[in-house]
Amino acid sequence: MSAQFDYDLFTIGGGSGGVRASRVAAGYGARVAIAEARLFGGTCVNVGCIPKKLFSYAAHFREDFEIAASFGWTVGEPRFDWATLRANKDREIARLNGVYERLLVNAGVTIHRARATLGDAHTVEVDGRTITARHILIATGSWPQIPAIPGRERAITSNEAFHLERLPRSALVVGGGYIALEFASIFNGLGVATTLAYRGQRLLRGFDAELGTRLGAEMAMKGVALRLQANPARIEPGLRVAFADGSAADFELVMFATGRKPNTAGLGLESAGVKLAADGAVAVDAYSRSSVDSIWAIGDVTNRVNLTPVATAEAMWLAKTLFRGEPTPVDHDNVPTAVFANPNLATVGLSEEAARARFGEVEIYKTSFRALRDSLSAREEQTFMKLVVDTASQRVLGAHMIGPDAGEIIQGIAVAVKLGATKAQFDATIGIHPTAAEEFVTLRDRSLT
Ligand code: FAD
Ligand code: NDP
Repeated sequence: MSAQFDYDLFTIGGGSGGVRASRVAAGYGARVAIAEARLFGGTCVNVGCIPKKLFSYAAHFREDFEIAASFGWTVGEPRFDWATLRANKDREIARLNGVYERLLVNAGVTIHRARATLGDAHTVEVDGRTITARHILIATGSWPQIPAIPGRERAITSNEAFHLERLPRSALVVGGGYIALEFASIFNGLGVATTLAYRGQRLLRGFDAELGTRLGAEMAMKGVALRLQANPARIEPGLRVAFADGSAADFELVMFATGRKPNTAGLGLESAGVKLAADGAVAVDAYSRSSVDSIWAIGDVTNRVNLTPVATAEAMWLAKTLFRGEPTPVDHDNVPTAVFANPNLATVGLSEEAARARFGEVEIYKTSFRALRDSLSAREEQTFMKLVVDTASQRVLGAHMIGPDAGEIIQGIAVAVKLGATKAQFDATIGIHPTAAEEFVTLRDRSLT
């Protein structure tokens, strides 16, 4: 490694991608430093995946108590205390911040708890110092966006939702993507009268079309007031929201979950010659290299597939490319993903629509049924599963599910899809009985719709 520079790698951003790249690079023998302006662990640990899933567990208990009664349990009148959940969550997140920082220190990475900016192709400004590095990694993540409507400052984003002083009695959640559906389900489960307003006709654009329609119906059945083709035009004092269609309603909390923007402003990227894409993301090639040879970027700041396991995979591929002599391009095919709404939704591979566009003729297998756990109660929730199969090769191109533990189930199915398994190989797999997951290996009838 070159002694001409202070470090072999300087990483800007200590989130999912930056921490992993720094640790693995140091493990390969590189001299590494990292700067984090806020908290180690980044979005996922502090205001994303982890606290969100903890909140989601909390919200699911409401139904668990109801189901328990059908199995003979008397649980009394359940009461929920927001302050307890928030404090316990904060304690766990503080523990994880420490874990992340220790992992870096133990790997021999030099830590800067400060905002860093780029000087040029090989220099970084941090803590009032100029530091040189053979390679610089931009892993600065993304930030929530609120549309420019009058009164937008009265609304919150997911960042603030994790720290609310008290739980509101009513909430409007705006958006139809991951965060909107997850938080609408969280608020609803915790007893907040929740309205979800989405500008389009079907939730989860880009997912298999049937999933958005079915998830919307399930959420509505659980009590979320679903307003499609509804978009706030103005937020007035007192949190009166005027919609574009002329209607208006009052809420105690308004939360926008209308997408995120890559954190590239004010970093010195342009002056260092780093090209940005139209959406403000760092433009990178298949090896995560920017338009400047010594500057690389991974994770949300590149706006490719904005998920934590993708950011950490990009980090490991990059560390191999730079410090193990194994140039490794990113592989974004068949990335499984889950939306932790209530009910959960998970998917891997192609939607029916994308598969038809790419492969022409496809076969669809699907089922919907009431989970065994619900069979003693009056609950009507339907578990839904769908396989999309290429008619010519019989390969399973996509697997989709709505229902309890969908993420846990699709993770296993994703291995088969990634390996290119055929429908016959799914069928040859023996099920585990009685589970919901076994339905994926017993789907025999082609759907004609
Ligand atoms: P981040 O984790 O955002 O890290 C970037 C870091 O860079 C931040 O800590 C920031 O403070 C720091 N930084 C920025 N600028 C500078 C600077 N100039 N100097 C120093 N430091 C700087 N993904 C999933 O896979 N599963 C989920 O369940 C999931 N849930 C989510 C829920 C929510 C509410 C949100 C918002 C996101 C969720 N995500 C989830 C997405 C996931 O959090 C991101 O894809 C992931 O965190 C991206 O990692 P990253 O390293 O690119 O960026
Ligand atoms: P998404 O891109 O998933 O959804 C944004 C939503 O906001 C879409 O429904 C979009 O509508 C709508 N929208 C965008 N702009 C406007 C506007 N100007 N007015 C009204 N509505 C608008 O972003 P999120 O913010 O939900 O999440 C960001 C990313 O973080 C996700 O895409 C995902 O990659 C990651 N994430 C992952 C999670 C997980 O793995 N479980 C959980 C949370 C986040 P339209 O579709 O019509 O454009």
